[in-house]
Amino acid sequence: MAKIRITKEFVFDAAHNLPHYDGKCRNIHGHTYKLLVTLIGEPCSDIHSPKCGMVLDFSDLKQVIKESIVDTFDHALIVSADSNSACLKQFQEEGKFVELPFQPTCENLTVYIAELLLRQMPKNVQLYSVRLYETPTSYSEWVVTDNQ
Ligand SMILES: [Zn+2]
Repeated sequence: MAKIRITKEFVFDAAHNLPHYDGKCRNIHGHTYKLLVTLIGEPCSDIHSPKCGMVLDFSDLKQVIKESIVDTFDHALIVSADSNSACLKQFQEEGKFVELPFQPTCENLTVYIAELLLRQMPKNVQLYSVRLYETPTSYSEWVVTDNQ
């Protein structure tokens, strides 16, 4: 049977800053991130299965992404663990704060998301790509064929 790619799109808002960066993104600012997750697999051919004809039920994909990515990052401040600002430390006590062991660029967040999802893929389905838009015209993309 033919392999098919399916994609689901998510949107979340988050703030971040890029310490040591030589441009204005060194300051805390926000983005409306758009996340596209694409899986590849063969549609279920079991006519007795409620998932017949599906690679994966879109609602199952939605649940995984929502729980592991969107709920974590939406309306959070995302910072690198090596940030040492007193302002950030204060925010950590009062707000939704995600500290990551890397600079929270679009590229690094994309890899982080891909690696999180790779650990959660159901059998018979493969993560094909993760595309993360930081602005309507800028995105980074992880693709399985680039990383094998
Ligand atoms: Zn930014």
